[in-house]
Amino acid sequence: MAIDGITYSSFSGWIDPPGEVLPAFEGELACDVAVVGGGYAGMAAALRLAERGADVALFEAGFCGVGASSRNAGHLSGAPPGDPRLLGALQPHRLRGIVQFSQEAVRFTEELLQRLAIDSDYEPTGNVEAAVSGGQIQKVRRTAQILHKAGSEAEFGSGRDLGLPGTFLAGLFERLGGLLNPGKFALGLREALLESGARVFERTPVRTVEPTSAGVVVNVPGGHVRAERVVLATNAYSRELAVAPKRLANPVWVRMVETDPIDSARLEATGWRSRSGIVTKHNIMESYRLTPRGTIVFGVRRLSAGRGALESRTPDPAAVADLARGFRTRFPSLRDVALDRTWGGWIAMTSPWLPVAGEATKNVSYLIGCNGHGLAQAPYLGTLLADRLAGDELHDDLGTVWRAQPRFAPSLFCSPLTLRTMWAIDRLSDRLHSSKR
Ligand SMILES: Cc1cc2nc3c(=O)[nH]c(=O)nc-3n(C[C@H](O)[C@H](O)[C@H](O)COP(=O)(O)OP(=O)(O)OC[C@H]3O[C@@H](n4cnc5c(N)ncnc54)[C@H](O)[C@@H]3O)c2cc1C
Repeated sequence: MAIDGITYSSFSGWIDPPGEVLPAFEGELACDVAVVGGGYAGMAAALRLAERGADVALFEAGFCGVGASSRNAGHLSGAPPGDPRLLGALQPHRLRGIVQFSQEAVRFTEELLQRLAIDSDYEPTGNVEAAVSGGQIQKVRRTAQILHKAGSEAEFGSGRDLGLPGTFLAGLFERLGGLLNPGKFALGLREALLESGARVFERTPVRTVEPTSAGVVVNVPGGHVRAERVVLATNAYSRELAVAPKRLANPVWVRMVETDPIDSARLEATGWRSRSGIVTKHNIMESYRLTPRGTIVFGVRRLSAGRGALESRTPDPAAVADLARGFRTRFPSLRDVALDRTWGGWIAMTSPWLPVAGEATKNVSYLIGCNGHGLAQAPYLGTLLADRLAGDELHDDLGTVWRAQPRFAPSLFCSPLTLRTMWAIDRLSDRLHSSKR
C-alpha cells in the first residue's frame, strides 16, 4: 500500500519552520487586545490593530503559520465556499453578499502581498472549478448560472478553451486570484507582524479565556494576560477553548501530495496551457496545481473528521495511495511520475459552510474564514474585524458573515459516516464515467 520513496511529513511541503521560534510568554501583561492564534487570520488582525495604534499581543501555541496557513494548496480563489446551489436555494438573499465577500477577499489579499512586499511566488492564473464527467458538467453549468445572477465574475467554458488537461471536460473559471506558496505567505506575514510593534509570543498555548467585569483574563501555562478585548483566531482548534461558541468549528484533516519535478515538454503535452489551479466538482473535491519548481501538488479527495484533541499527524499511506490513484486518472500521461512528499493539515468546516465572525461573549470576538477558502478569506476577515475593534462602523463584508448570536447547529456534513459515504459516491461516479468512455 505504501508508495516507494515518498516522504511523509508532519509539517508542510512548502517551507521549513522559521529558524528562530520566539520564546513563550511568562509572567503578567496588560494590553488593549489579545489575539489567540497566529495563522493568516490572527496575524492579519494583530497587524492591522498594531498599524492602527492599538497595544496588541498575539499568542500562538506553536509558531506563527504552523497551522493550515502554511500547509494549504495555495489556491487564492474568489469562489464562494460551500455549495452556491444550496445557498441560492435556501438563502438566496445571502448569496450576493457572499459572492462579493469572496471576490473582495482575493483583491484584499493580492494588495496585502504587494503592500508588505511578500515574495510568495504568486501567479495570477485564476482557478477553475472543473468537471470530469457529464454529471459534473451539469453541476458546473448550473453553479455558473446561479453565481452569475449573484454578481460573480466567473465564466463557464470548455476544458480546452480554459487551457486544461484533456480529462477536465469543462469548468467555471474564476479569473480573480491564482496560485501562491502559502508557506512563504505565512512567513512573510509573520515577519511583517514582528516588525509592526505588536507583541508576539510563540510556544504559548492559551488554556482559558475568562471575561471579567474589567475586561478579559487570558491564561497561559507561564502566566496570565489582562486585555480589554480578545480575538479568537483559532480555526480548527477552536473547540479546545471553552469560551468559543459551541460547534463553531468542525475539524477535518486534509492531505496534500507533491510529485517530483516533471520535464516541461511532458507538462506542456498534458494541455495545461493556462496553468490555472483546478478543483473538481466531486462531492469532495480533488485539487491540482502546478508549482514554479515544475511539480504538481494535488490533494483533498478524502476528508477525515477530527475527534478529541487535534494531534499533529502524518498522512496515512492508504489515503495517499488513493490520492495517487486520482492523480493518475486525471493525468494518464504522467502515470510514471514519482511522488516526492506528502503532508496534511486541519481545516475548520463551519456548520453554515460559510465564513463566520461575531462575539462569543462580551469583549471576546471570534472569526473563521475557512471551509477550505481561508487563504484569501482568513486575512481579509481578520483585517475587517480589527478595523471594527479599532472603532470603525461594521463593514458591509463583515456584516455579511456576522452572527448576531454565537449559536451553531451540528454539522451533518462532517460526520465520519457522511464523509466516507461522499467519498464512496464520488468513486462510484468516477467508475460509471470511465465505463462510459
Ligand atoms: C491541506 C490544506 C489545503 C488547503 N487548501 C486551501 C486552498 O488551496 N485555498 C484556500 O483558500 N484555503 C485552503 N485551505 C484552508 C486555509 O489554509 C485556511 O482556511 C487558513 O489557513 C485559515 O487560517 P487561520 O488563521 O484561520 O487558521 P490556522 O492557520 O489554522 O491558524 C490557527 C492558529 O491558531 C493556533 N492556535 C489554536 N488554538 C490555540 C490556542 N489555544 N492558543 C494559542 N494558539 C492557538 C494554531 O496553532 C494555529 O497556528 C487548506 C487547508 C489545508 C489544511
